[in-house]
Amino acid sequence: MALEPTPTGGMTHGHGRHEEGSDLSDIALRVRALESLLIEKGYVDPAALDAIVETYETKIGPRNGARVVARSWVDPAFREWLLDDATAAIRSLGYAGRQGEHMVAVENTDAVHNMVVCTLCSCYPLPVLGLPPVWYKSAPYRSRAVMDPRGVLAEFGVSLRADTKIRVWDSTAEIRYLVVPMRPAATGGWSEERLASLVTRDSMIGTGLAIDPQSLAAEAAP
Ligand code: FE
Repeated sequence: MALEPTPTGGMTHGHGRHEEGSDLSDIALRVRALESLLIEKGYVDPAALDAIVETYETKIGPRNGARVVARSWVDPAFREWLLDDATAAIRSLGYAGRQGEHMVAVENTDAVHNMVVCTLCSCYPLPVLGLPPVWYKSAPYRSRAVMDPRGVLAEFGVSLRADTKIRVWDSTAEIRYLVVPMRPAATGGWSEERLASLVTRDSMIGTGLAIDPQSLAAEAAP
């Protein structure tokens, strides 16, 4: 659902089932207790649990999302598919799974900048972005992204044109959003892989922009 920034920040939030909570220390303790119990009873193999955690930490991460974005930049048919049915388009690249069952891709333009938040906790598109950054789960980001998105963007070092509208999307247990940042200028003819290297995690949450090779070059100049 698209949320217009409002002073109260009031909105509905369809949280049916919850995988993660904001009180992490409590959750962490409970997880540890459950894990010990399951291992003690012989229901799970600790090595299997480690493998799952390692997969999320190292194999599944924002590089997946970056490949999706880069493909949409070079392949107009894929871009159209992504905006129409993100779940299927993303799955076609091999990225699917828990918390990515219902994906929606929202594309940035000069007219509209999209930003993603989960106002109640930390719902996040795990298969394309991996584990959420700590700030994404923080109370200040969750409230201020809705009340003052332009201020939040400024803190992330992003300033948009004054006439660019900001649209804030509230993730839920059911729907996870992926922002498709704008392709930087002067990248014509770049390979998909090289383009993917410009796509940062934050640019796919909407708290950043894709890396602009021209401004990098300008910064590097004496
Ligand atoms: Fe949530």
